[in-house]
Amino acid sequence: MLDRFGRKIDYLRISVTDRCNFRCQYCMSEKMTFMPKNELLTLDEICLIAERFIGHGVRKIRLTGGEPLVRRDMKRVIQRLGRKVETGDLDELTLTTNGSLLGEYADHLAAHNVRRVNISLDILDPVKFAEITRGAKVDQVLAGIKAAKQNGIRVKINMVALRDFNQGALIPMAEYCAEQGHDLTVIETMPMGDVGADRKLEHISAQEFIAPLSDHYFVRPIEHRSAGPARYMSVDPLGLRLGLITPLSHNFCDNCNRLRLTTDGKIFMCLGHNAHVDLRAVVRNEGVGAVDRLLEKALKLKPLRHEFNDQLNGSAETLERHMNVTGG
Ligand code: SAM
Ligand code: SF4
Repeated sequence: MLDRFGRKIDYLRISVTDRCNFRCQYCMSEKMTFMPKNELLTLDEICLIAERFIGHGVRKIRLTGGEPLVRRDMKRVIQRLGRKVETGDLDELTLTTNGSLLGEYADHLAAHNVRRVNISLDILDPVKFAEITRGAKVDQVLAGIKAAKQNGIRVKINMVALRDFNQGALIPMAEYCAEQGHDLTVIETMPMGDVGADRKLEHISAQEFIAPLSDHYFVRPIEHRSAGPARYMSVDPLGLRLGLITPLSHNFCDNCNRLRLTTDGKIFMCLGHNAHVDLRAVVRNEGVGAVDRLLEKALKLKPLRHEFNDQLNGSAETLERHMNVTGG
């Protein structure tokens, strides 16, 4: 699949549910409402659509949400899509998760070809962790991370940079990750959905956020590239690889290879745009073959770049959609 700008699209992110057992302050509002259950794709429909996308050249799938592991029967989906890695139809099946249910899922993930997971962890301090997630327990997440590691799954920690909240937590996080052999990625907040806070006040550029690391460690850019938008630093002598995801301070759309499927069956070609194609009704009426036609339409919608900066500054219409709908 190629878009209008010649970018090869081979990476699908599926938000399998918009629900979550956490309420992270930058992701959701306190009184979040979720999609009615009767509007969701069934797990069977999700797999059928994903398989059709694979037929069109998708090589990598990431399951996300909401929290992907809160959706009932996820083990079936992991098993079915994990088989595609075995047959060589997919290069990778992976997840972004808050880690809280990994104790229960890690062995199943490992058994079905999930080799890496991204786990969100913004701070190690239990009180501040409970504050930012509105009530979750960091020990449960740390236990989940341990279970993943014990099952041979590589872990990357995602830390959202929040001004005046977790900058002081970066050094302990970097040391924890280095000690445990996890990669660490710092992510700038994106203005998605109303969360009842001023996005401008919480925003801090990744570069400013990591500056204090240099007081203690030698931080230098390295050439390492992944399929994603991160730029990498090496933090020595910790031996830590630190990724920076900088949608606002350093646009990364030039090489974007992604498309996204929401749990109610919409294809979004960009996290930061409202344009989408609705698959659910058409697939239910005409069968999964209709995906071919709709994918062609969706590819034409992929914009050159997101507009998060304009949205943050109020010069572009804000996105009503919260992060949990399209998945990070
Ligand atoms: N629940 C899972 C988790 O937290 O990893 C998966 C879904 S979550 C929406 C995916 C990623 O998006 C997480 O790393 C989270 O920290 C990040 N995220 C959520 N809201 C965000 C925002 N407004 N700006 C930047 N990152 C955000
Ligand atoms: Fe849930 Fe992930 Fe959003 Fe936190 S960031 S509320 S864990 S979906």
